[in-house]
Amino acid sequence: MSGLHSHGTGPYEALQRGRKAVDRLAADLAASGGTLREVTATQVLLAGASPRVLFEEFTSAEEAKTGADWMWWWVDRDGTCFGLLTQAKILKVSGRRWTVDFGYTTRGHSRSQITKLIAAAEPYSVPAAYVLYCGDREYRRTLECSRSHDGVLCRDRERVGVSVACALLAYRAQSGVEVFHDAVPVEDIASPVEGLDEPVRPVKELNEELAMFLRQPQRGARRVAKELLRPLERVRRGVFSSAKTLEHVASTADALLRDVPAHHGYFSVPYLDHVLRGLRTRVPDYVRDIMAGRTPPAGVTDRLGGIVVIADADALG
Ligand SMILES: [Zn+2]
Repeated sequence: MSGLHSHGTGPYEALQRGRKAVDRLAADLAASGGTLREVTATQVLLAGASPRVLFEEFTSAEEAKTGADWMWWWVDRDGTCFGLLTQAKILKVSGRRWTVDFGYTTRGHSRSQITKLIAAAEPYSVPAAYVLYCGDREYRRTLECSRSHDGVLCRDRERVGVSVACALLAYRAQSGVEVFHDAVPVEDIASPVEGLDEPVRPVKELNEELAMFLRQPQRGARRVAKELLRPLERVRRGVFSSAKTLEHVASTADALLRDVPAHHGYFSVPYLDHVLRGLRTRVPDYVRDIMAGRTPPAGVTDRLGGIVVIADADALG
């Protein structure tokens, strides 16, 4: 891409290596009639991104075999950090039908599985997201998306083999393909390439600190928070909202942005707070444990499939 990436040592390149390894695996499995699984995909992604991306897998979690939720943290050199609770999902095809198993039902539009993930993020005060394993372009060649595109079709997008979508998007959506449409490549969400970082245009008037945060280019942990918010603001722009005054929520301890509006914006929870509470001024102890090579307390290791730490997330190299 640009000269910034020529060293191959930054988090962007590391995650790209991991994503390409998952793409190859997905292609090989598709060619041989096999099926990509969430646990395997996660291991291949992280092994490929290691050692620049630190990770520790916990085997004590009850759901370890089927794929428990993983916690991701981006940690900047100044200690600013961003946490995200993730659940892995495969973009699957059966016949001509492309789906992601979010537990949607045709009748009743159940959102219980998604609500459960959002609730699981509460004790950690971080947002919840899906890591979607979507294969390479060849794998997606028959995918049809019903939504409009500015130029490139969903199936032809670059780098989306491993993508991230906020759980609030999945909650609002009607289908897995709709969520894939708004998902962001995992390597892009903390990309150091400033040219990709357009201002996020909020629907409502926001306080100056928050407005500046969304308007100005960001790096590292701040950038991840901004890129997760971007699709939410885009979806919101298409939705009528009559709320004139904005209530504010009590902020999370150590939150970087402390004055965040509490409006739902037609999502299931106040979406600005849901994402921005993950952006902190202090690294949580269980994340420090991983960085120091210590095992975090059982309360953490029993509940998670593992922890990913991207240290020096704001470094270019
Ligand atoms: Zn699309």
